[in-house]
Amino acid sequence: MAKSILEYSYANGLLVKFPDEKKLIVDSTNVKVPPKIDAIVTHAHSDHFAVMNSLTSTYATQETIDLFLSQKKKKADAKLVPVNFNEKIAFQNGLSNADVRLIPSGHVLGSASVIIESEDDKLLFSSDIGGKGQLTVKDQLSKIDANTLIIEATFGSPDIIFPSREETSMEIIKWSAEVIKQKMNVIFNAGRIGSAQELIKLFNNMTNLRVITHGEVTALSEIYQKHGVKLDFVDSKSQEGKEILRDGEAVIIQPRGKKIIPYHLTEHIQCKNAIVTGMASRFQYKNYDASFPLSSHANYLEIIEYISAVNPEKVYTIYGLEEKLADAVTKELDIPAIPLKMLGKEQVKNTIPKLQKTAQKQQIKKQIPVVENKPEKETEKSTLDDFFKTE
Ligand SMILES: [Zn+2]
Repeated sequence: MAKSILEYSYANGLLVKFPDEKKLIVDSTNVKVPPKIDAIVTHAHSDHFAVMNSLTSTYATQETIDLFLSQKKKKADAKLVPVNFNEKIAFQNGLSNADVRLIPSGHVLGSASVIIESEDDKLLFSSDIGGKGQLTVKDQLSKIDANTLIIEATFGSPDIIFPSREETSMEIIKWSAEVIKQKMNVIFNAGRIGSAQELIKLFNNMTNLRVITHGEVTALSEIYQKHGVKLDFVDSKSQEGKEILRDGEAVIIQPRGKKIIPYHLTEHIQCKNAIVTGMASRFQYKNYDASFPLSSHANYLEIIEYISAVNPEKVYTIYGLEEKLADAVTKELDIPAIPLKMLGKEQVKNTIPKLQKTAQKQQIKKQIPVVENKPEKETEKSTLDDFFKTE
């Protein structure tokens, strides 16, 4: 095994220390990072971009910067530096011996993995990676050889297997057609970056139904359009959007926890509600009429395929089901693996014998727990006429 030149640890983000003592932090969850430490943000999901609000020089793809700015007001002094895929990053603080590049992670628009090379050491931080067959990801997941892989484990357990993307997409269309046949609207509650645009594209490709978007989804989907992803949707607050809602038989896409139609008007505007999230493969969502496990994340089998392609000497797992994935990688692929948070606390072991792959695949889903959603607060009150009034 090559000697590790880079030092890394998890401290509110992936902290990498180079031989020349320079430091780099990736996806810091801490807003306050000393300005002398450079930062990378891999994509525009809010659990990854906290550091973009700081004064530190932050490197990200132009798509990530645009999606971030559409969600937040940029601080006057924030230094956001756009980086192209596969280009060596020219850090303002030096990092002279390091070759650091972003490569596509196929998760959402502009999402990246980070490859860090220093002398004979090569570290790949996957960040969140996407599964196959997404409709709105321009740059597909890139797999590259590395000595060390730090891999996301959101769905990294052998007992979580989604149905195929195609199968889930067909279920979504079928359910929507049934609801619309009854002269109702369908509402999809989905992640505002990734799932929302996948739904818009799915309905654009497969149906003639009109897609109405919540303002936040509208703004973010316009960034997708700006970067060349064709999407056809109508903002819910526009005159056209209101007319479509009044007519019924529309597909409504809103971020989880937000509402286009206020609760007290739902008896006048008939709708059925669905939630779209990969977590629907793990939990039952009792407060929705339907749930669909469509995700921007790779599933377990795709994660294992990715690790095999990268062919690392050791693996660290991060985010989500870290222990389960580390255990599975050790057993299934015979590669030493532990959760990144255990680094320094436990030796990486490679002593567990391989299990028969068929035995892994025969594992069945555990009983699915139920999520009891609290009803969301309703603050605004308006009449049906107010609701349809043009602004
Ligand atoms: Zn993400």
